[in-house]
Amino acid sequence: MTSISKPIRNLTTVAIILKKIPYKETSVIVKVFSQILGHISVIIHGVRKEKSRLTGQIEILSEVELVLYKSSNSNLFTAQNIHFIRNYQVNSSYTQIILMQAGVELILQLIISETEASNFYDLLIKYFLYIAKTQKNGIAIFWRFVLRIFVFLGIELNIQHCANCNKPLENLVNFAPLFHGFLCRQCSKKNVGRNISIDSKSGFLIKNLYQIGNILEDVEITSNMIIDINRIILIYLTDHYHQKFHLNCLEMY
Ligand SMILES: [Zn+2]
Repeated sequence: MTSISKPIRNLTTVAIILKKIPYKETSVIVKVFSQILGHISVIIHGVRKEKSRLTGQIEILSEVELVLYKSSNSNLFTAQNIHFIRNYQVNSSYTQIILMQAGVELILQLIISETEASNFYDLLIKYFLYIAKTQKNGIAIFWRFVLRIFVFLGIELNIQHCANCNKPLENLVNFAPLFHGFLCRQCSKKNVGRNISIDSKSGFLIKNLYQIGNILEDVEITSNMIIDINRIILIYLTDHYHQKFHLNCLEMY
């Protein structure tokens, strides 16, 4: 990416830090998802100096307000000023942090246009806040987040109807990558060998993800269900964008 774009000065945006790399003696380059520009990389000078006021604040899952500068021949932004808002890791459990990181891992792999950035930003913050107050079955909140991401990306996963004949589905037990969705019993018979069969409990959960808040305490999520549902998510994304996707964070869930 070496496109020459217009210079930017004094642009203020909130942003979530997704990745951090040390740069030169005392600086860092952070990959952030910002409310106004979406994905950008930003140099923060002097943050690793011993007496920096930002010590411990420029971390993954920190939300910051940035005042940005960029010259016309660079894709890299410079932070003129930073105001720390909060870090979502603080007061979160190990599991909650893994789930937040999984959200970050997914966002990092997506191409999101500037015009869509604020929608995705708000969704990500809402997701962090929901995870922070969820003690049980947080993975289902992650899956709901993924369904909402699909909607924003314009690739909504149909969890109500057969992806071939459009008949309403009672349960989701046959995922068909070729059809980008679930098939009814009859259609799945014609697609033998190319369906991914899942447990009816996994199917029930997927079907109820949009209302999951109501039943979160009552469902039991087994490790097989986690493998099933994550696999479908990754296949669905890979088939849509013709590239490999990963959710490595969730291996620690
Ligand atoms: Zn059908």
